[in-house]
Amino acid sequence: MLTSGWKSVSMVDVHGKVTFTLWLCGCNLKCPFCHNWRIAEGLDCFPLDRKVLVEELESSSFLIDYFHVTGGEPLMQWRELGSLFAEVKLLEVPVSLNTNLTIVGPLEKLLKANLVDHIATDLKAPPKLYGLPERPAERLWNLFLRGLDVVSDYEIPLELRIPVAKGFNQWFYIEEGLRRLNTDFYVVLNPLVGKPLTNPRDEDWCSKHCWPEKEVKVLKTKLEELGVRVYLSDF
Ligand code: SF4
Repeated sequence: MLTSGWKSVSMVDVHGKVTFTLWLCGCNLKCPFCHNWRIAEGLDCFPLDRKVLVEELESSSFLIDYFHVTGGEPLMQWRELGSLFAEVKLLEVPVSLNTNLTIVGPLEKLLKANLVDHIATDLKAPPKLYGLPERPAERLWNLFLRGLDVVSDYEIPLELRIPVAKGFNQWFYIEEGLRRLNTDFYVVLNPLVGKPLTNPRDEDWCSKHCWPEKEVKVLKTKLEELGVRVYLSDF
């Protein structure tokens, strides 16, 4: 597997939880605000030393709530990931997966094998936030909705992150996503930020659409009116 590294104790990768976090390389999307774009594009990556990882995880396991895998898009390497999750399960450490939910068949295989205990995903809306031409982006949005169905079918607890961009009204898509959810979930609103806090893939895009203000307040109010638990990310 290709990785850019891991952190044995992290308190910022899953809301309110302590995680051992592993970053895997590669991604099928091109989100303009991506601050992990070097990992997504396979830069700064090296082969994972699985034995060292598992030993380190075992020694930190008493401290952590989840072994959390993020990226990039971890399901780009889903076969090896499934095998790693099976090994982690032997340590009795719960597994959390951060995925863009568009690689649905492999996701379902991992859930069916009972290898994942928690999912985190971004609801990227409108689909132009995928950074791809319109038709592929719409297809990916439909795959994402199918991914939400699968997470609901297997009743996996979900952290639904909503990146909030200045000037976008994504309510139609948010409602469409929420309607698919039939599992325990909460929302983390993630206002997009550009430099100096992050190094996004597309600085021009971020100069227009990062640092939203009123959009975050409006969304938080609308979601709370629906009875959704909402948190703000640390930015
Ligand atoms: S934000 Fe996530 S899904 Fe989008 S390009 Fe970056 S790693 Fe991939």
